[in-house]
Amino acid sequence: MLPDPDVAIIGAGPYGLSLAAHLEARNVSFRIFGTPMQTWRTAMLQGTHLKSDGFASSLYEPSGTFTLRSYCNEVGVPFADTGVPVPLETFIAYGLAFQERYVPRLDQRDIVDLTQTQTGFTLRAEDGASFNARRVVVAAGIGRFHYLPPVLAALPPAQVSHSAAHRTVDRFAGQDVVVVGAGASAIDMAMELLRVGARVRVVARRRAIQFHDKPGPRSIWDSLTAPMSGLGPGWKSRLCTDAPLLFHAMPERFRIDVVRRYLGPAACWFTRDAVEGRAAFMLERQIAHAAVQEGRVHLTLTCADGTAEDITADHVIGATGYRVDLARLPFLPASLRDQIRLCGTSPALSTKFESSVHGLYFVGIAAANSFGPVSRFAYGARFTAPRLAAHLRRCSVSARVVQQEKDQGSSSFLKRRTKKLLSFPGV
Ligand SMILES: Cc1cc2nc3c(=O)[nH]c(=O)nc-3n(C[C@H](O)[C@H](O)[C@H](O)COP(=O)(O)OP(=O)(O)OC[C@H]3O[C@@H](n4cnc5c(N)ncnc54)[C@H](O)[C@@H]3O)c2cc1C
Repeated sequence: MLPDPDVAIIGAGPYGLSLAAHLEARNVSFRIFGTPMQTWRTAMLQGTHLKSDGFASSLYEPSGTFTLRSYCNEVGVPFADTGVPVPLETFIAYGLAFQERYVPRLDQRDIVDLTQTQTGFTLRAEDGASFNARRVVVAAGIGRFHYLPPVLAALPPAQVSHSAAHRTVDRFAGQDVVVVGAGASAIDMAMELLRVGARVRVVARRRAIQFHDKPGPRSIWDSLTAPMSGLGPGWKSRLCTDAPLLFHAMPERFRIDVVRRYLGPAACWFTRDAVEGRAAFMLERQIAHAAVQEGRVHLTLTCADGTAEDITADHVIGATGYRVDLARLPFLPASLRDQIRLCGTSPALSTKFESSVHGLYFVGIAAANSFGPVSRFAYGARFTAPRLAAHLRRCSVSARVVQQEKDQGSSSFLKRRTKKLLSFPGV
């Protein structure tokens, strides 16, 4: 049986795996749980491409050598820092290769329960086995946080679903499908539905679908006025990627507002031609009412001028994003959840990613209201993994010192007691 580790990581996506690689290198005892790259393998559309640039789509290990670029060079897949879209399947294969090389002892069981103990936490895996750890990092990603507007959420899943429910869309061939949303997920979904022969309408509140510009050669002037960053060009994005601690120091309301508004929905430049003129775009419309009658979805839309419009479809897909809601994490009991101070709906975190529950940490999207929009992307692991690993290393060293002092203290106490006893007359 393995001894109890200092740290347990729940989740094996880009954040969990990058953190594990850093803990391994720093000699911190840890266990990591979860299916590797699960969100990317199950909740994203096969055949699509990443929206992040090639240089901003890596996992992170301390040497910084096993990047997506080096993986692509190894396996002979085309790669460029910008301008060459990264196929989803390439990124998944890279993530799995990263796991095999840097996190070979990954435990692929899911954690179903987490309880606080006097010395840390007990984690229960799906098969009933229990583990203790002094500290726990929740790196459970976006999988549980998919969001459907209430007007759609109440309808049966046969007629209404979230985009995350579809790895392929072949079953919609020949059907009328409404896609709700204006971001990359909505446009990717529309593109795939068109490809399989569905009739597609995209319903969105926005006045126009915004497509990113195709990256081209950049002048010195471009670099000065809009420097490149892992979130795209621009000084604001550059601040987000390079100064998450500055973001952390900002007032809470400002942070929540920025995370909600900054980098709003926008589609990838390389998807434009596949949808423009082929899908029907019903913009500046809100869904006022939705119902299912005789197997079809009936939507009442409110238009910008206040008029109403009724449409029907075989199926509605909400590409309506993700919202952090700790109540959706099945392993987090209410007793523990209630102790976590919130920042918006996310945990309020210290500069070391620790929540108000001592020893309980959150990374990835759940850390965005504390560290900014970069935490919503894999690129945020570049800052998160080394910083958190260094902190956990310090915690584990000081815990060891305290333990040693206790052990020494108790043995010198025993020695003192024995000496005293031996010095007793007649002993
Ligand atoms: C359609 C789509 C496209 C995207 N494109 C990009 C992109 O191009 N670039 C980018 O940077 N980001 C992109 N994102 C965002 C991306 O999902 C996040 O950046 C990334 O997944 C964050 O990594 P993570 O490790 O926090 O979470 P995830 O990748 O979600 O990984 C979480 C892991 O936790 C595990 N887990 C969950 N619960 C448990 C449990 N109870 N026990 C054990 N393990 C558990 C899961 O198995 C999973 O492997 C996209 C998102 C979507 C929806």
